[in-house]
Amino acid sequence: MNTTDRVEEVLAQLRANGGRVTSPRRAILQALFEHTEHPTAEQITATVQARHPDVAESTVYRFLDDLKRLGVVDHVHLGHGPAVYHLADDTHHHLVCQTCDRVIEIPDRALEELRRQLWQAYEFELEPQHFALLGRCDACAVSPHPPAS
Ligand SMILES: [Zn+2]
Ligand SMILES: [Zn+2]
Ligand SMILES: [Zn+2]
Repeated sequence: MNTTDRVEEVLAQLRANGGRVTSPRRAILQALFEHTEHPTAEQITATVQARHPDVAESTVYRFLDDLKRLGVVDHVHLGHGPAVYHLADDTHHHLVCQTCDRVIEIPDRALEELRRQLWQAYEFELEPQHFALLGRCDACAVSPHPPAS
């Protein structure tokens, strides 16, 4: 699906939920779908304002909150910096290298075993999607050998 189709799809969803479709909102969605990496709200605002200087930062932030309520986007904390946004339709988790800031996306099923063990041993339901798991990538790893499984 191309960017325009995805934008229209979300706008239809917005309308169905009683939201108004405005040109700033359209521009915000356009910017969101164009960012391939995980953008901060500030980066989304910069992309929108490059084309629509009249769109206020508060409009962008408020609309991102609306989109979160609609289940279109979610924010995630990758480290010490500001939260970043990604689309909510593809559940994944993030491994972040503390040395070089590299972000590795992993599918939800990669944590299935850990989730099951934590529930069994501690009756704790793990929800790792809101924060990244921190560590070091292969290039920055401290120990020469991976931990034994
Ligand atoms: Zn948060
Ligand atoms: Zn993500
Ligand atoms: Zn690294």
